[in-house]
Amino acid sequence: MSKRLDGKVAVITGGASGIGAATARLFVEEGACVIIADMDVAGGEALAADLGNAQFCRTDITIESDVAAAVDGAVKSFGRLDCMINNAGVIGAVGSIRETALDHWRATLAIMLDGVFLGCKHAARVMTAAGGGTILNTASVAGLRGGFGAHGYTTAKHAVIGLTRSAASELAPLGVRVNAVAPGPVVTPLVETLTGVDHDTLSQMAAQQSPLGKAMFAEDIAGAFAYLASDAAAQVTGQIITVDAGVTMAPEVADFHKSEAAFLGPAGILGRFA
Ligand code: NAD
Repeated sequence: MSKRLDGKVAVITGGASGIGAATARLFVEEGACVIIADMDVAGGEALAADLGNAQFCRTDITIESDVAAAVDGAVKSFGRLDCMINNAGVIGAVGSIRETALDHWRATLAIMLDGVFLGCKHAARVMTAAGGGTILNTASVAGLRGGFGAHGYTTAKHAVIGLTRSAASELAPLGVRVNAVAPGPVVTPLVETLTGVDHDTLSQMAAQQSPLGKAMFAEDIAGAFAYLASDAAAQVTGQIITVDAGVTMAPEVADFHKSEAAFLGPAGILGRFA
């Protein structure tokens, strides 16, 4: 039986952990070949070996030659590039705007915005030459409104949404679709590390705070990427698909998240991390 992503080739930045790793796993299950582009050599190599139809490429998304090499490596190894997922990310600078150091701000935007720009740029180079492809960016509910993340993170995610729409406008006539997924709070190592809360406790807290009553996991976001990369989304471009269990559906829900009510880990989190 044919699978949704049969024969497709994808590069996934941040593919060694969390949302990227779940997406790499689902893409391989759906028939794709995957390049895991990440700084985490041990994690990336182990996942590639486990998945089989995957390769690891050590990539720092803030370095243009690294991103170009990951993209070109897909073409060299697998003959084509159908899908680029610009997903790698960090929390970056946290704390009051009154105390945020300029170099920490710039370092945050270098990963969270420049890295996405470089992924879009080099994927577009290869895809337009080949006649088409799809670029997917990981945004966040922090890119839709204030109060969901730290200042640099929120700023970068708003910009990723702008870049998604802008690149989609340029590339549509050239056969390249560009979309973003905007997750709400997802239980991943990013959040576990930030909060210092273990996976099970974090999952329980997330379920309590979710309008749908269930914690979100990386697999929930991977499903949206698989849809957008598939032929079922052939007419979808310039869109931001929000996968957030409903946290942005009504003002009072967002207020609840800002209220620091049910989901406060040691770092006083959820309302600040997504
Ligand atoms: P994660 O920490 O589990 O994974 C992030 C991966 O990115 C890691 O493997 C890390 O090594 C890699 N990475 C970091 N900096 C890099 C760099 N400079 N070059 C290459 N790789 C780098 O985190 P996650 O929660 O899976 O986050 C993935 C994406 O999802 C991020 O863009 C994040 O902002 C976004 N997001 C996460 C949540 C959430 O609640 N977890 C919510 C909304 C959006």
